[in-house]
Amino acid sequence: MQDIRWNAFWLISSLSLLSLVLWASADAVSALIVLSSGLFLYLIGHLYWLHKLHAWLKKPVLYHMPNGYGVWEDVFASLYQSHRKNSRSQTQLSSTLERFKHAASALPDGVVVLNSGNEIEWCNPPAENQLGLNLNQDQNQPISYLVRHSDFMAYLQAQEAGEPAIKGQTSQEPVKLDPIKLDPIKLKSWRNPEITLEIQLIPFGAKQKLLICRDVTVLEKTETVRRDFIANVSHELRTPLTVVGGFLETLSDMDGIVPTSSKTYFDMMLDQTGRMRRIIEDLLTLSTIESNAQSPNDNEIDMPKLLNQIQNDAKNLSKSLHKTSHAIYLEMDKNLNIKGAQEELYSALSNLTSNAVRYTPEGGDIFIAWHLRDNQAVFSVRDTGIGIEQQHIHRLTERFYRVDRSRSRETGGTGLGLAIVKHILSRHQAKLEIESEWGVGSTFSIDFPMARVVQKPVEMAL
Ligand code: ADP
Repeated sequence: MQDIRWNAFWLISSLSLLSLVLWASADAVSALIVLSSGLFLYLIGHLYWLHKLHAWLKKPVLYHMPNGYGVWEDVFASLYQSHRKNSRSQTQLSSTLERFKHAASALPDGVVVLNSGNEIEWCNPPAENQLGLNLNQDQNQPISYLVRHSDFMAYLQAQEAGEPAIKGQTSQEPVKLDPIKLDPIKLKSWRNPEITLEIQLIPFGAKQKLLICRDVTVLEKTETVRRDFIANVSHELRTPLTVVGGFLETLSDMDGIVPTSSKTYFDMMLDQTGRMRRIIEDLLTLSTIESNAQSPNDNEIDMPKLLNQIQNDAKNLSKSLHKTSHAIYLEMDKNLNIKGAQEELYSALSNLTSNAVRYTPEGGDIFIAWHLRDNQAVFSVRDTGIGIEQQHIHRLTERFYRVDRSRSRETGGTGLGLAIVKHILSRHQAKLEIESEWGVGSTFSIDFPMARVVQKPVEMAL
């Protein structure tokens, strides 16, 4: 720009000087004619190149850019450089985008990019295949118009609302929170019921979502074979074991049949058959819960009644295990119920309380609590027992994972209790939290989502 200004300055100055000289040497009219013709030509020149620039800008093809003359040569040269730079980075950008699309298309899993209104921005061929989409036709269409599956709709709404999905609650007006990353869900394909799909929504960017869809039919089949195998083996073992256990009990009850010298061995045999029976019962419970993928029926559970029963069970267990039983406290919100499967929830809650009794030395304290906290209904069992070292905590819900095998065995444990709890809770969209300090005690809590909570009207005091 500096050059252009100087250029114009010099040209106009020279023209004025020439006119002045002419005025001095000839007359004013000729000087004026020279000055105005010079300025006129100067203006025409600029108008010409301005017109050329305007024409080029209408169709900005790099190689058709005019060369220009004088100051315009510089203008066109700078324009050429910047245009070349822009088109180079544009080419780079589109080739990166193309490469990304190719890579995403080559993925075996289906990928759908959704905008904040859940409309399809882009999807890869596996997603078209698995979800029955067609990118050309369905771009900018809301996914809920195209994937019409009640579980998927509930999942989509739950993700928007920041709440776990619960079957049959699609019409409920959710509390608006930021979209969250939920665990994936499994559904039977609506196009081919033989196919099982695993779907997950992952939020990213400005309220956009990535929908990942995976065909897990083979995995599901293997899992079903494994579950059936465990269920069948447990079933087959239960009958002979009941017979053996029954005979052992009968023999040990009959006077004089078992010699005193063998009594200890007999008791050990009885103990072990009892243990095997408990393991088999737990394995059968686990496989029943696992094979039942459906969410349980939502019956309202009378929580005060259930919790009183759990407290009594814990007191009885404590008496049977120790000379000095534990102090077992119960503190609850009597107006708080939840919806779920009564038997399953009884099993989960009593598993946690019986663990508290079994892993708390005699005379210890156990606190059972049930109340609302942070928009969730929370059941918790706190004990003053042996506690758990941090490195074990994340593995406790694995089958047969025990911190101290012998203590678990001595107190009648099977190593399957927390695995059962975990499965029951996932069917109720609830979460297990474990806090513990070695030698101090543990707190096991279950957080139930508000969608499961039923609050009774507060009883008026008379
Ligand atoms: P188990 O039948 O062995 O108790 P669980 O699955 O119920 O099996 O528990 C797994 C392990 O977690 C137990 O073996 C024990 O080591 C630990 N555990 C569970 N509850 C408690 C508790 N309240 N205090 C200390 N350890 C616990």
